[in-house]
Amino acid sequence: MKLAKLNDGPEIFHTIQGEGVSAGLPAIFIRASRCNLHCRWCDTDYTWNFEGTPWPHDFDADPNYHKHRKSDVTIELSPAEIAEHVLRFPTRRVVLTGGEPLLQQSAWLELITLLRKADPAYLFEVETNGTRMPTPDFEAAIDQLNISPKLANSGMEESTRLIPEVLTHLADNPKAWFKFVASSDADVAEIESIAARFKIPSQRILLMPEGRTATELDRHSAGFAAEALARGWRFCDRLHVRLWGDKRGV
Ligand code: SF4
Repeated sequence: MKLAKLNDGPEIFHTIQGEGVSAGLPAIFIRASRCNLHCRWCDTDYTWNFEGTPWPHDFDADPNYHKHRKSDVTIELSPAEIAEHVLRFPTRRVVLTGGEPLLQQSAWLELITLLRKADPAYLFEVETNGTRMPTPDFEAAIDQLNISPKLANSGMEESTRLIPEVLTHLADNPKAWFKFVASSDADVAEIESIAARFKIPSQRILLMPEGRTATELDRHSAGFAAEALARGWRFCDRLHVRLWGDKRGV
């Protein structure tokens, strides 16, 4: 499998889930490399913004920023090797994240099978941008889908970031939660329109302020909490940002 590389090893770490409906729970994160989208503000650009690609990124404004050499930021491991890493931790909640993890569904299924063989108590969450249809086997094996559809502020064309058959399918799955990242009132209006278009139940929508620091989060938190309340959505914080700031591997 292609995973993000951190300190010469795979980006697999034991932490507190910081976002979504299981925020606060201990979890093991496994970060996949590669993404089919290229959001301008992506904070895991090392999973896709490789040398030789044409994608723009907000970080381009920083003269010290360079696109990543693929071999510096990617590591390949088999599902069995990943299972060895995961089994070292005491937690049984595993979060498959990225990048876009749904680009490697059959390999994740192998990993899930191996881990559940070791202990049937393992639970799996997947964090996806909602543009790839899960296979029936993959969807059945996952306990919780955290879908994060991208808005116009991502810089992606609507036809690339909103795939109607995938969103309509996932809206029907009670295991799927829709977490939207917003930084303006226009974003909130866009979320409302996406929710109506794809019939996403309001009780499975989470509104999360954008922010890489506690100060940035606080800028919108109170306003967005009120917006969420008015629509029957959940408000979602970013606990890991508050606890550890904008750091990898925590
Ligand atoms: S979908 Fe997620 S991982 Fe992919 S580019 Fe956008 S923010 Fe980054």
